Amino acid sequence: MDRSADPPPEARAIAELVDRLGRVVRAGEHQGGLNPAQWEALRYLARCNRFSNTPGALARYLAATKGTVSQTLNALERKGLIERRPDPASGRVVRLLLTRAGRALAAKDPLIQLATAAAGCDRRVRAAAADVLADMLAALQRANGLVPFGVCRTCRHFRPHAPNGAPHWCALLDERLSEADSRSICVEHSPLAA
Ligand code: SF4
Repeated sequence: MDRSADPPPEARAIAELVDRLGRVVRAGEHQGGLNPAQWEALRYLARCNRFSNTPGALARYLAATKGTVSQTLNALERKGLIERRPDPASGRVVRLLLTRAGRALAAKDPLIQLATAAAGCDRRVRAAAADVLADMLAALQRANGLVPFGVCRTCRHFRPHAPNGAPHWCALLDERLSEADSRSICVEHSPLAA
């Protein structure tokens, strides 16, 4: 990314709009009794797949230290929104699961208000905006060496409509994927174009 070039006015306008939208969402987040970091963790755990629900994956997703993430998880646990469980296949791995109260709160995510506002726009405009924002995110992740994350349908390891009986298949992890799995975000995601 060329940091020396002065961004054109419309690029600056997009950056300012993204920032202001973020502020609106964060203002709504405080009404739910969680701080923004706790909302980000809750939102991630509501959307990630079964390979990605660990403290380490969450730390990578948030680009935060394990210590910071641990404090956030402790707070969510004290509030009865998540629970930690040892992985049945490897007791050293801790899995993070939303409790019923956690799922109920995640369903009231203030981000839904933003999605509802987007739904009011023309479908083609929405699709174009989503492409622009996805490109911006990918560029920033590359520039900062961050893990991309993403869902199966944009991953090069995804094998849709697998012939072996699974709805879908992950060629990297050699695992079945349900329809819901294929729409969840994954720490192992590798973009199609990579
Ligand atoms: S196909 Fe890609 S995104 Fe989906 S589970 Fe496998 S590695 Fe993760």
